[in-house]
Parts: sequence; C-alpha cells; structure tokens
Amino acid sequence: MNKDDFNSKLSLPKEEMQRYGYKIIDHIVDHFETQNSKKPVTIASREEMDSLLTEDLPDHPTPANEVLDFIMDQVIPNSSIVSHPKSYSFVPGPSNYISAMADTIATGFNIFSGGWAASPAAAELEIVVMNWLLKIFGFPTKMGGGIFTSGGSMANLTALVTARRVKCGEDFSKAIIYLSDQAHSSNIKAIKVIGFKKEQIRLIPTDLEFKVSLNKLKNVIAKDRLEGFQPFCIIASAGTTNTGTVDPLDEIADICQEENLWMHVDGAYGGAAILANKGKKLLKGIERADSLTVDPHKWFFQPYEMGCLLVKDHNWLSGTFSEKPEYLRDIEGNESEINFYDHGIQLTRRFRALKFYMSLKTFGLESFRKAIQYNIDLAEQTEALLRKSTYWEITSPATLAIINFRYHPIGHQLSEEELDRINQNISKKIVDSREAILVTTVLQGQIVLRMCLINPRTTIDDIKSTLQQCEIYGKEELALITKEPC
Ligand SMILES: *Cc1c(COP(=O)(O)O)cnc(C)c1O
Repeated sequence: MNKDDFNSKLSLPKEEMQRYGYKIIDHIVDHFETQNSKKPVTIASREEMDSLLTEDLPDHPTPANEVLDFIMDQVIPNSSIVSHPKSYSFVPGPSNYISAMADTIATGFNIFSGGWAASPAAAELEIVVMNWLLKIFGFPTKMGGGIFTSGGSMANLTALVTARRVKCGEDFSKAIIYLSDQAHSSNIKAIKVIGFKKEQIRLIPTDLEFKVSLNKLKNVIAKDRLEGFQPFCIIASAGTTNTGTVDPLDEIADICQEENLWMHVDGAYGGAAILANKGKKLLKGIERADSLTVDPHKWFFQPYEMGCLLVKDHNWLSGTFSEKPEYLRDIEGNESEINFYDHGIQLTRRFRALKFYMSLKTFGLESFRKAIQYNIDLAEQTEALLRKSTYWEITSPATLAIINFRYHPIGHQLSEEELDRINQNISKKIVDSREAILVTTVLQGQIVLRMCLINPRTTIDDIKSTLQQCEIYGKEELALITKEPC
C-alpha cells in the first residue's frame, strides 16, 4: 500500500505506528519525570489562543510527526499542570502513570464497556472493582451495585434520577429535595436537569463549621409536610469542596429513616478519605446512604475521567435505566450478566474500570491508604505552621486535606475590605508568578486562600516555599494600605 492507500484507510504502516507510539510514551514519561520542576500555571487569553490555534479545516494530510510536534509544543504547554505538587486549588488531579497507561490500553483496544455480550471481561472487571468499592464503603456487596461515570457530576445526576423514580414514581410535582448551602453546584445542576423547579429545592444554611444545620433541616421538612409537599431526598456532603467538611451523616441517616427520605451522599471530594483512620471516623454513617457518589479522578488518583455511583440495591439502577430497544434484543443475556447500559445513562461507554483495577493491583490498597493518610497529615502540618506564624489566620482548620486561611498580620488594624483586597491580591500575584495554583474562596463573607492537598508528591517544603512567597506579597499589599492617607 502506498501512503494514499494507508491514509484513506485511516491507517499507518506498522513501523510508523511503533515509532509514533514510542515517541508519545517518551513525552508522557518525560512529563511525569519533569513536571515537579515546571511552573504549574498557564494563563492565556482567547485572542492568544485564537491566533495560536485557529486554522482552516485540514482537507489534505499532514505528516503525523508534524501534527504531534505541534501538539506537544503548543497545546500541552498551554494547559495548567493540575498534577503539579504546587497545584493547590479546586480539586487537583494527581493522577498516576499506571492508570494513564491503562487508559491507553482501553482506548487502544477500543473496548466497548456497554454490554456483557460485547466485552464480558470488561463488564466483570467493572463488577469486581465495584464490589471492592462497596466493601470499602460498607455497602452490601450482594444487593449493592453501582456504575462508573465520567465524573462526580454525572454520578450525582444518575443518583437523583434513580432516587426520583424509586421515591416519586412518575409524579414528582410536589417532591422537595434538601441540601446545604455548601453542597456542590453539580447537585443543583442535576436537580435542574431532572426537571425540578426552583421552588422544589431547599438550600439549608450551614453552621459555623460549615455543616448542615440539623435543626433547620428538620424544621423545613416539617413545614413542607404541613404545606402538602412531598419531601423525598436529602443530599449530604461527605467532604465539601470548600472546606472538606462532612455533614453529620448518622443524624441525617436517622432523619431519612424517620421521614422515609432518600439519602444521597455526595462524597465526590471526601469519600476516598475512608481509607485513612481519621477519614473513616469523620465519614461514620456513610454506609447508611441509599446512594453515594465518589470521584476516583480526584482523591483515588485516577486520570480524567472517572466518577462512580454506588447504590444499596442494584435493582434501583436497572429499574430506572433499562430500556429495551429492538436492536439490543439478541444480546440481553441472563440476569447475572450485567449490561451497564441498563444501569446508567450512557449506552456506549469506555472501559473506565480498567485503570482503577490496574492501579489498585499494581500499587496495592495499602499504598492508597498511605497516600491519603499522608495528605490528611500534610494539611494538619500546614495548619500547625500557619498557627505559629504572626501573619496568618486559620479560617477553616485542616479537614480531609483542605485548609482555608488568610493573611492577617498581628498588630495591624485592618478592615474586612482591606483584608479581602490583600488576600485577593496575594492570590493574583502568586498565580501571575506561575509558581503555584493558589486561588481564593469565600467563607462567611471573607475572601480566603484555600489549599486542597491531595497530591502525594506535595511536600511540606513545597508548602513552606509557597507561603514564604505569599508573605512577601502580603507585606507589599500591607505597605500599600498603611501608606494610604487616612
Ligand atoms: C468535584 C465535585 C463534584 C463534581 O465532580 P466532577 O467530577 O467534577 O463532575 C461533585 N461534588 C463534589 C463534592 C465535588 O468536590
């Protein structure tokens, strides 16, 4: 075959495939080896990216290496490194090499993970990994079930569709759903997607520790009943994204039991902490949830995309998502052979279980436990460091590896506006320096800095150097304010 023949079959000659693949592996390995010494932040405007990347539809072939080199030179470096040790913001994505390679296998073989008939081993592996997770979270392994999704948002959506069907059936016009003001925005999105009106959502205020106020929750439920509404679901947070706070899960489970409500736990951020002793204590009661979201692409160190929904009874999923189109009739199989397209929204699905399976087996659960324990300890060490300093004040103490703090030097009378401005500018300056991804959040009306320390390669020295840099910026900002005429 000549080049044109290969191209028109979207194929490459064997040696070229090999050279191309090895080159990509070299790039990826180089990334894993050198990322710690790079700057994690990328900032670029739409104009800059337009001028770099906009081009006409490519009608004719371009040499494969040329395209690859362009991507490696222009696209990859213009993305922030969320697996960098100084990537402290949002929820970092530490990832791991084994899972990155596993994803390459899943894609290379293009395994269809929708139905049993197409890939029985892939379906079985999803069942195996799901059973491991059910066990980790104290869910019943016989009746329990679950599904891997693209992320926590899709897992929350899948949970709420299921909860709505099980608790409300067809008519959910009077159904009311409860969540705290610290619950993740993806829950609100999911509630909108499933067709609830604003009037059917109750945002319950949190207390000074950012936990849902149980008293207010109970009051609102009682009032809704009196007014003829149908309370149907409480979404509890197991590790809020802002502060790592875990809602009182046991108490919420009691309320759900008494009131016959669905208990969904959003553990997308904090669920993984169950593998550490401290996390396990905080997450007590999580095993009582009807459904639980966890997000392996966060603190289980998987590359994007991988979320997960666990449920107490796998029949809830199949009862909600089974449709029987004619073209699937020949491959239905028997009851025990799970077609995951019947357990969630997607029909065609990639083989997500593979990366979790391979990384868990290769490193062992013990390594995951140690990494997660290390992260929790690191946040506590950071808190101790900050408490000893005259520059910093803790806004929310280290909880499940998240800590919130602000620059507030002793001996200066500063207004809330001034403190907000100082801390906002510290964040801006450190991001502009590109040395660390460290942005602010708002807690009880104050602008604060937030660190989410779930990268096992972040060291206390990384944190010290970032804080020192922040202190320099803080002093600069302070000088601007104290020089201002009164
Ligand atoms: C990240 C997060 C989500 C959303 O998960 P995605 O994987 O980003 O879709 C939901 N809930 C919580 C608590 C989260 O931290």
